[in-house]
Amino acid sequence: MLSERAKKIKPSPTLAIDAKAKAMKAAGEDVISFGVGEPDFDTPDNIKEAAGKAMKDGFTKYTAVGGIDPLKDAIIDKLKSDNGLSYRREEIIVSTGAKHSLYNVAQALYGPGDEVIIPSPYWVSYPDQVLLNDAVPVFVETFEADSFRVRPEALEERITKKTKALILNSPSNPTGMIYDRKTLEKIAELALKHNFYIVSDEIYEKLIYGGAEHVSVASLDKEVKMKTVLINGLSKSHAMTGWRIGYAAGPAEIVRAMTNIQSQSTSNPTSITQKAAIEALRGPQDFVVRMREEFDKRRKYLVEELNRIEGMHCLMPAGAFYAFPNTSQLYGKKAGGRQISSSADLALYLLEEARVALVHGSAFGDDNYIRLSYATSLADIKRGVERIKGAVGGLTA
Ligand SMILES: *Cc1c(COP(=O)(O)O)cnc(C)c1O
Repeated sequence: MLSERAKKIKPSPTLAIDAKAKAMKAAGEDVISFGVGEPDFDTPDNIKEAAGKAMKDGFTKYTAVGGIDPLKDAIIDKLKSDNGLSYRREEIIVSTGAKHSLYNVAQALYGPGDEVIIPSPYWVSYPDQVLLNDAVPVFVETFEADSFRVRPEALEERITKKTKALILNSPSNPTGMIYDRKTLEKIAELALKHNFYIVSDEIYEKLIYGGAEHVSVASLDKEVKMKTVLINGLSKSHAMTGWRIGYAAGPAEIVRAMTNIQSQSTSNPTSITQKAAIEALRGPQDFVVRMREEFDKRRKYLVEELNRIEGMHCLMPAGAFYAFPNTSQLYGKKAGGRQISSSADLALYLLEEARVALVHGSAFGDDNYIRLSYATSLADIKRGVERIKGAVGGLTA
């Protein structure tokens, strides 16, 4: 009955543990969650007010499919001032979240037999969006020793005549690592030499710590820009996950195709949200700074504490809001009758024994790790880490 396409798509691997955490919470248990992938801050008031005004003004009808011009102009100005990039309106499309932008790119670029290279660990939706378009995800492993940046030599080994695109994510979910200019230059060189696109997901651009620099791969030079589709949005930078707004910037021909696809599926992103997005981009940015400072404090605290736990070690992430500790030394240990042999076993053990919810690394393509989001209060982070320490201390060889 179902299409071959539908059969290829797995349910979200994070679902089982999330469902269990929710059930425990509903039963009145005090579960601390490191699982969520969204800021715990409220959307700033000036943004909400802009949405309220849009409603009062009756701005509640269909808009241009790819977003209203004043919003495209705000995005163009942002890309110019933050990223040193010049785009025209026909090179911008606004969609219902960055995930939707990524999906539109996938529909516009990937087809049967095409290969799309995805460095692993990766964000959970990338492989499935490739599969949904009958293309083939090709993984290239990255290593802690390289700060999880893809080795250009390893990338080159994966390139074939069928390579259509590479998906880059800097700062990265789940590793929190960011790409330096040198590595990006080498990657871009390969894209030009072998003629494939770079889909660059920059949703965590505003969440970078310790003075590190965000480099937008499209800004390296004109030719690279013509091979890049840049993805960004306001979910993470302005705590707007529920508003559903994201955008893409790229060559006009690709953006036109994405807009046609969007016109036959969702039509325009919500009119009210578009007005709110203009305020988010053009209004005061002090909220972003405050949120980043708060995340920075939590980041340092959490990572230092994780490194105090025997059997775990964790790189200091440079961006996003995730810690990604290596937990492989704990595999093979036991607690009571239970054997921990994988990241999923460990996540389930920590949920059941320590009432701490987090995501197993295998969900992101690497079983040696677990992912903890620090988009939760410092008080909860403190309590949560104590619980993890206790539960890991209870494991025996
Ligand atoms: C959160 C996230 C997105 C999607 O965000 P939207 O809410 O759809 O705008 C895209 N990529 C990564 C890596 C994310 O973590």
